[in-house]
Amino acid sequence: MDTECPKNMADLFIVATPIGNLEDITLRALRVLGEVDLILCEDTRVTRKLLDHYEIKVPVESYHEHSDLTKTEKILSKLENRENIALVTDAGTPGISDPGSKLITEVRKRFGLDVKIHVIPGPSALTAALSISGLDQTEFEFLGFLPHKKGRETIFKRIKETENAFVFYESPHRVIKTLISLMEFLNPERQIFIARELTKSYEESFAGTAKEALDYFTSNPDKIRGEFVIIVMPIKN
Ligand code: SAM
Repeated sequence: MDTECPKNMADLFIVATPIGNLEDITLRALRVLGEVDLILCEDTRVTRKLLDHYEIKVPVESYHEHSDLTKTEKILSKLENRENIALVTDAGTPGISDPGSKLITEVRKRFGLDVKIHVIPGPSALTAALSISGLDQTEFEFLGFLPHKKGRETIFKRIKETENAFVFYESPHRVIKTLISLMEFLNPERQIFIARELTKSYEESFAGTAKEALDYFTSNPDKIRGEFVIIVMPIKN
């Protein structure tokens, strides 16, 4: 394997995977996933679907935010034993609002720079949504998922008072609640952009005010499905 570092060190590969369309994977990602000793993932069913599609037969184990210390120790000893490991999450780039960063933090704490962490870049819902939003500015703030309770109101107040764009991830269960809050807090003219089910067959984009978005989704409840990225556009775009 082309590990790009001395042989006496273990390698950890952080591999971006598709956010919907299985074709959105790099040649390097496929090569690395096929060559490592073990693939760690969030949900083995999701990752196996991708691996089966590309006929990759490497062992898969789950590693997620609820994985305990014993599991983490087991993985760290595999790295100590110079096993090459790839880490993927259910979709997109590990470490962007998903459990990916947990393992990376543990590996850095235990081994410092002795374990080489390679990034295999690829899709992310964040960059995918931004790229089609028409945002004409380089400055934006990424919030990941909004807090459910504590700090939620403070964030909406900050969005309201800030000129720049904000980007965040949203689930179908909370999207209406969030649109109601945006309608209550934002200037009524402020534009938002919503990207839903990017790269999938029901991919859809919406641009308009928060009220227009709320009207649209409440009158089309079949579209309150899948994954959402919401961008609050800057006051002047
Ligand atoms: N690490 C991932 C990335 O780089 O995109 C994000 C993981 S986060 C747990 C999952 C969230 O990403 C979803 O709730 C949704 O907000 C967003 N997302 C993932 N896939 C998407 C898609 N196909 N279309 C729109 N948003 C998506």
